[in-house]
Amino acid sequence: MMQNSTSGRISAYIGLGSNLANPVEQIKSARGAITQIPGLQELAFSSLYHSAPMGPQDQPDYVNAVMGIATDLPPIELLRCLQQIENEQGRVRKDQRWGARTLDLDVLLYGDQIIDLADLIVPHMGLADRAFVLYPLFEIAPHIQVPGKGTIADLLAKCPRNGLTILEHE
Ligand code: AMP
Repeated sequence: MMQNSTSGRISAYIGLGSNLANPVEQIKSARGAITQIPGLQELAFSSLYHSAPMGPQDQPDYVNAVMGIATDLPPIELLRCLQQIENEQGRVRKDQRWGARTLDLDVLLYGDQIIDLADLIVPHMGLADRAFVLYPLFEIAPHIQVPGKGTIADLLAKCPRNGLTILEHE
């Protein structure tokens, strides 16, 4: 039997990030849009976190959160729905890696699956070493196993907070 399923649906986790155009509102509006995706139900939503940017430092700080969902969408369809929300919220894709963005949505985990497709790598590549992903994920799923990487608690113990703070408690 598939692990991490809720009534036949798969439990998955989405990372949300924004550092432009009122990031708190971007995250809240993305949460609303995600809950409107057919075949998807929100299970949990973390506090909003405040983090310093990765990569180029000449950009505003980020607001991050993690959402737990149950869904019957296949993972690539989930990704496409999230990308549509990113585009609708005005994200401008730039060539610069880790550049400023109005909204970034990542599939962090999809049940206990390891996915290695051209467009989709799950668990998300940054999951194991990014404080702004691990801390909010731990907040809503403290007992979860990250496929191929161990428990969330073990990963968190090895990851400094890097100045991550809670901006708004859920
Ligand atoms: P980014 O600029 O960080 O949002 O990266 C977007 C690109 O990452 C897209 O082309 C996606 O196809 C790819 N990608 C690979 N794995 C994932 C994932 N787990 N979640 C979201 N995007 C992913």
